[in-house]
Amino acid sequence: MNGSMMFQQMTIGSMIDHAARYHCQGEVVSVETTGGTERSNWGEVARGARKLASALGKLGVEQGARCATIAWNNRRHLEIYFGVAGGGMVCHTINPRLTPQQLVFIVNHAEDKVLFLDKTFLGFATTLGEHFKSVDHVVLMGPRDEEAAALVDGLLFYDELVATGDDDYCWPDIAETTPSSLCYTSGTTGHPKGVQYTHRSTVLHTLGVNQPDGIAIAARDTVMPVVPMFHVNAWGVPYIAATVGCKLVLPGPGLDGDSLVELIDGEKVTLALGVPTIWLGLLDALEAKGSTAPSLERTLIGGAALPPYMFMAFREKYGVDAIHGWGMTETSPVATANQLLQKHMPLSAEEQTSVRLCQGRAMWGVELRVIDGAGKVLPNDGNAQGNLQIRGHWIIDAYFGADESALTPDGWFDTGDVAMIDADGFLVIRDRSKDIIKSGGEWISTVELENIAVSHPAIANAAAIAATHQKWGERPVVIAVTAEGEEVSEAEVLSSYVGKVAKWQVPDKVIFVDALPLGATGKVLKTKLREEFGKVLIKGN
Ligand code: AMP
Repeated sequence: MNGSMMFQQMTIGSMIDHAARYHCQGEVVSVETTGGTERSNWGEVARGARKLASALGKLGVEQGARCATIAWNNRRHLEIYFGVAGGGMVCHTINPRLTPQQLVFIVNHAEDKVLFLDKTFLGFATTLGEHFKSVDHVVLMGPRDEEAAALVDGLLFYDELVATGDDDYCWPDIAETTPSSLCYTSGTTGHPKGVQYTHRSTVLHTLGVNQPDGIAIAARDTVMPVVPMFHVNAWGVPYIAATVGCKLVLPGPGLDGDSLVELIDGEKVTLALGVPTIWLGLLDALEAKGSTAPSLERTLIGGAALPPYMFMAFREKYGVDAIHGWGMTETSPVATANQLLQKHMPLSAEEQTSVRLCQGRAMWGVELRVIDGAGKVLPNDGNAQGNLQIRGHWIIDAYFGADESALTPDGWFDTGDVAMIDADGFLVIRDRSKDIIKSGGEWISTVELENIAVSHPAIANAAAIAATHQKWGERPVVIAVTAEGEEVSEAEVLSSYVGKVAKWQVPDKVIFVDALPLGATGKVLKTKLREEFGKVLIKGN
């Protein structure tokens, strides 16, 4: 017989089975939507997931059916992740911050059969329920609740539903290329588009991004994904956590700085993951409470550029290593993470910091390239700037329901980001291609201008936009929010740019506002800002 190796399908069910087999007592701490904290473990989560899959089968939910969730990060949501996918259905996480029109569009486009709701979001079933054309069952994620039952006809209750599942249920045989979960992009322009992940892409993403130079979660870690489970599978953390069996802390609805500090200190969190806006609140709360977050060793920051002052604040004040990563819904989402190479070790702390601030290097499983407007591949020389493209095991091929591929003719996905890559593969995201400012034929990075604005102590948040200019085509304008109790003039903010960017890159204007408009994933809606302020430099406006 020829030598050969065993073949097994790479499935999500196998991940939770591993957690139950080898990390049965590994803790899962969950802040409940209705208040209080629940303590559970991987053994119980695995049991719940299997019973849920069994119960859904008895309810008549078929293989391949989309089961939607609108929920916080909590234990029941975790069971749904594994139970729905493990049972051969598709876990469709929906972002509650979308507009009602987008929510209705998404549920109907995905043809969701089941809708799991946290109590916070029960209102969606009462106000929008009649527009959800395909939904057969609405399930409230909790025990029986008579008040809720009176509001929604035929409402099911998660705990009762799971109790109808069989204890000895076994996962069905599933081919690894079967769809497992579905996530829609935030759709700031046009309709949201669905990205459907498979068991195989999810398993490979889990293995690929949890390398020592990536997220590097180990069994001895206590991990808190602050990134929502309704945003690209919480960056894959639930799957990674199951494969390594770490302690998992799910923060529920309280994402304010004070609640996060309490959880980090109370549960001794070693790694927390989230977008920069969340860490703004956390840093303020640490300062106000006088906590030094002694357990926290590192934090993974992505979804938007990591501002340099934030990297420094984590390191200098709290001894926390901020790891910068980049990705998008279409890339599962993690594609790069920033860790130093051996050759950087002799460098000074300052030199190392400048390396650590970029978006990092592709991990095994994905490849990156930048191309110019004519489609020519540019060199990885740290200088040539172009459209960032990606390909790999956990990268989109076609959007959900689309007839044609989303890729270039030679098989790459165009990210819509403008970037540079250096000879070692370090990626610098300069901008979204639709946000970058083109002044007199030269490019100005809004990311860079924003980083400088928010490093001013009196500025809490800032967004740079392209404003139409009669002579230069476009010029930068900064829209800024002052920090509480602070006052600062436009001239002071503008002077902070001197020496940090070329003279012609200094913004033409700073406009102060009370708050920046945020989209469903917490990112600044620059389209809105451009509509409002895009003409401020034109005389007569
Ligand atoms: P989403 O699909 O909502 O996760 O958004 C993906 C987009 O967020 C990317 O295409 C980037 O424009 C942006 N993004 C994600 N991570 C970073 C980062 N570390 N630095 C700058 N932009 C980022």
